[in-house]
Amino acid sequence: MAGRLDGKVALITGGARGQGAETARVFAAEGARVVIADILDAEGKAIAADIGASAIYRTLDVSDEAAWSAVVADIADHWEPVDILINNAGILHAGTLLDLAREDFERVLNINLIGAWLGLKTTAPGMIEKGKGAIVNICSIGALCGMNGTGAYGASKWALRGLTKTAAMELGFQGVRVNAVFPGAVNTEMNDANRKPMPDDTPQIITRPIQRFADPEEIARASLFLASDEASYLCGAEIVVDGGLTLGSYKDFLPGSPNV
Ligand code: NAP
Repeated sequence: MAGRLDGKVALITGGARGQGAETARVFAAEGARVVIADILDAEGKAIAADIGASAIYRTLDVSDEAAWSAVVADIADHWEPVDILINNAGILHAGTLLDLAREDFERVLNINLIGAWLGLKTTAPGMIEKGKGAIVNICSIGALCGMNGTGAYGASKWALRGLTKTAAMELGFQGVRVNAVFPGAVNTEMNDANRKPMPDDTPQIITRPIQRFADPEEIARASLFLASDEASYLCGAEIVVDGGLTLGSYKDFLPGSPNV
């Protein structure tokens, strides 16, 4: 059976673990040749080895422009220019706006926002030359509402959302579709490391329509759709994969509503 990404070369940043690693697995299963790019070399190499011949690992700090140029050129030599870029690498820094240090705010912006821009800046020319390409920016529900205690992260994701719109305009007419995915709470180390593991029965989870964390594969499936030709008319689109988290709290509904 034909894969949904047969023949494509997909570069996935932050691919050594979490959603990026799952995206690499899903894309490879759909026929893509995947490049796992990260700063976690041992983990990234292990994921690539596990996937097999259709995956390679490359060290890439997304905030380093020279590293982007080198990796993109290396992929073109190894296989061919990148067809699909998943701007997935990201960091979360906990801290209220009054407590944040400038260098922490800048680090978050450098990775979550500038890193994604450098990705599109270095990969889009090859896509334009091919006449076709797809870029998916992994935003967050933090780009749909406020982010209490993680303001630098929220600001970076709102900015990435804005970048997606302009990139879709500037690149769309040249054959490159740029779209975004907005995950809710996903069961990855990003949540574990910063907030301690939260069970599915915590208040943050039980007040939403789908009362559990997302599996990383559920986010990867949205990226797969946007990266594939099935999304050939999507340009600057936003897919929210949050289990209904941003719908609002059911506690705000009138008495007598379901679950109140
Ligand atoms: P994760 O498990 O922390 O994975 C992120 C990966 O990116 C890690 O391997 C990380 O390595 C890597 N990375 C960090 N800085 C990098 C850099 N400068 N260059 C290259 N790679 C770098 O997180 P995740 O949950 O899979 O998150 C993936 C994306 O989804 C992120 O953009 C995140 O903001 C977004 N997201 C996550 C959630 C969630 O609930 N998990 C919700 C909404 C959106 P290190 O460990 O060394 O930092």
